[in-house]
Amino acid sequence: MRTKIAIIGGGLSGLYAAYQLEQQGITDYILLEARDQLGGRIMDFTHHSQATTNNFDLGPTWFWPEFQPQLNAIIKTLNLETFAQYEQGNTLVERSHTQVPTAMPGYTHSPTSMRLKGGMGILINALHAKLNNKQIVIGALVKSITQQHDNIEVNFSTSNTANNQVNNQVSVEHVMLALPPRLAVSQITFTPALPSDLLTQWQNTATWMAPHAKYIAVYNKPFWREEELSGSARSSVGPMAEIHDASNPEGQAALFGFIGIPAYGRKRISNEDLITHCRAQLVRLFGAQAATPKADIIKDWAQDPLTATSLDTHAASAHAPAPDITAQNGPWHQNLVGISSEWSVQFPGYVAGAVDAANIGVEHYLKMLKRDL
Ligand SMILES: Cc1cc2nc3c(=O)[nH]c(=O)nc-3n(C[C@H](O)[C@H](O)[C@H](O)COP(=O)(O)OP(=O)(O)OC[C@H]3O[C@@H](n4cnc5c(N)ncnc54)[C@H](O)[C@@H]3O)c2cc1C
Repeated sequence: MRTKIAIIGGGLSGLYAAYQLEQQGITDYILLEARDQLGGRIMDFTHHSQATTNNFDLGPTWFWPEFQPQLNAIIKTLNLETFAQYEQGNTLVERSHTQVPTAMPGYTHSPTSMRLKGGMGILINALHAKLNNKQIVIGALVKSITQQHDNIEVNFSTSNTANNQVNNQVSVEHVMLALPPRLAVSQITFTPALPSDLLTQWQNTATWMAPHAKYIAVYNKPFWREEELSGSARSSVGPMAEIHDASNPEGQAALFGFIGIPAYGRKRISNEDLITHCRAQLVRLFGAQAATPKADIIKDWAQDPLTATSLDTHAASAHAPAPDITAQNGPWHQNLVGISSEWSVQFPGYVAGAVDAANIGVEHYLKMLKRDL
């Protein structure tokens, strides 16, 4: 198989790069995504009730249009509906095992944290629907990238109908890495090797939120609002350290929380036990109605090999500074470019960063094309 560009990863950055290329009239690319679905860290938990189907965000939830204009413009272009995070009412604070949680006046975030109606996955679906090129291969795990005489060979495996792994190859001139830098260098063998300083930079760039886990509990109605509670809480007891309202307007209600137990500690607890403790915490905070969610789920990103590596065990307190997007010189100079959100200087690790880095990656390619004419 031969085409001009390989985009590796079908999260937001990969899909947005594909969209930008098509806007420039370029369709000779292939997008290879290892999971059986697109979206990457943008992932839905779908709950079907008798009346409705509701999506809840297992990955990102918020964006901030006031200072992320490029992402906001895309959301507008795609006609996606937005709404503000529910923050009316008191916040609960759980300080210790021996003290009952206390309600405190909640504060509203400024600028307002916004959500997408239908969940973040709507952005992925809308972008995907805009693409003409059907060269998107899901279930395609890229294992090696080899360069020989100006030709780059991308090797990837797919499963056949009998569930056996099949090795495939595509020859390209340019590669866009739309997966986190640390993951790229741990999963993919580059021949010739990447320059050692670049390899070190990419390895040392923590993947945003990879060490985290999220719990979601779905309810028929947001009963906490009747008690003038916003659904948000902070806890020093756990297992969740931070909780928020995750309800869908005109849909089902939900609460979500970030688990405060570090990734290495979570490995020692079964999912079932952790869910039991999360439910018990919601009962302590929000009362007996919280005991029987219609559905609940934990997504542990640290245990997902298509997001996290063994280095992603400790939660970072700040976003990692963006590493170089390409090699300064040598055989990988200019023809291999990083475009996942971690490569964005402006918004490293954010949803808006995926858009920013993809945009820069595509501009970089267009400049190269002009130079080669
Ligand atoms: C729990 C959580 C909460 C978050 N909250 C927010 C938030 O509220 N606001 C915000 O702005 N950001 C948030 N983020 C960060 C945001 O999700 C990311 O910045 C953004 O989704 C990254 O998109 P991406 O396309 O750059 O990378 P990814 O979404 O990681 O996409 C990489 C893709 O590459 C694929 N892949 C991996 N290895 C291979 C391989 N070898 N071959 C082929 N494909 C491969 C993966 O399957 C994946 O689809 C959160 C993230 C998490 C996990």
